[in-house]
Amino acid sequence: MKIAIAGAGGFIGGWLARTLISEGHELLCSDIKPLEDWYQVHPESINVQSDLSLRESCKDLVSGAEQVYNLAADMGGMGFIETHKAECMLSVLINTHLLMASRDAGVKKYFFASSACVYNASKQERNDVDGLKEEDAYPAMPEDGYGWEKLFSERMCRHFYEDYGLETRVARYHNIYGPHGTWEGGREKAPAALSRKVASAKVNGTNQIEIWGDGEQARSFTYIDDCIEGTLRLMRSEVREPLNIGSDEMVTINQLVETLEGIAGVKLERRYNLDAPKGVRGRNSDNTRINELLGWAPATSLNEGLMKTYDWIEGQVVASQKRST
Ligand code: NAD
Repeated sequence: MKIAIAGAGGFIGGWLARTLISEGHELLCSDIKPLEDWYQVHPESINVQSDLSLRESCKDLVSGAEQVYNLAADMGGMGFIETHKAECMLSVLINTHLLMASRDAGVKKYFFASSACVYNASKQERNDVDGLKEEDAYPAMPEDGYGWEKLFSERMCRHFYEDYGLETRVARYHNIYGPHGTWEGGREKAPAALSRKVASAKVNGTNQIEIWGDGEQARSFTYIDDCIEGTLRLMRSEVREPLNIGSDEMVTINQLVETLEGIAGVKLERRYNLDAPKGVRGRNSDNTRINELLGWAPATSLNEGLMKTYDWIEGQVVASQKRST
């Protein structure tokens, strides 16, 4: 099958492309970044640098494709989305133009990567919260900026099915992590940022780590293999409603650090930065609906996923220090 991937130079897009190529599909891949900055470049696919906020670029990408995956967005961890709200909301142009181009080109199925940031903030005020069910997105009170863009784009997908018959699938990802993702530069999320801090402390022998907030914020973290499997299962299903793709193994940030210390074989002195961005107090995925509809849910344990992620990030830290000396 001919498949187009928007945002193929990013973390999830790179892994998705790898999986689809291994299944024998013909891929058209695009990202705004120059090719040398893509996290994974697969020579088997057609790889193009283009700005998909522009309608013409979207038309070029989806032309001849049977399926389209939209994984392109201006995004990052809490440190980024709390300080770049307009930039996050401008990603609405990418999804809008991709939907219009897909409709016009007769694309059969369209995937949109939404986020747990669409959920109503009042359901996430304690760190012992219940998992978020899909219906908890309404009444709407999502994360300002990034979450509003995701919720609006979800609805646009729904209406493109209702009004034009374009089959759309929407996943609400919960904190995806793994190798070949963003691990430095300000857009990284907690598992990568903390892996990097633990690895740097270990390699440099500083013995200290800075944690944002009091470390008692709770989250669940989803390993990339589960993200890709869930995405493909959802895309290949008849499920037209948004579904959580997220682990339901909730831990606090302090527990996440403890797990990383165990993997790295270090014990670090913690400094808490109470002024840093923290996000909601508690967030977990309720997997009842995905189990009911797809008979599947993410199952990789945090320890197993973090071992692979930490290993890769420690390698990046060591390599980058070698380059700078
Ligand atoms: P990522 O930042 O690694 O990948 C996104 C890619 O989109 C980047 O390579 C970026 O260059 C590209 N992009 C941005 N603007 C573009 C434009 N105008 N034209 C073309 N490409 C553009 O992020 P990711 O973790 O791979 O996330 C993929 C998708 O999943 C995003 O929509 C994101 O919002 C969503 N999501 C991710 C997570 C997570 O934890 N990683 C959680 C929830 C939702």
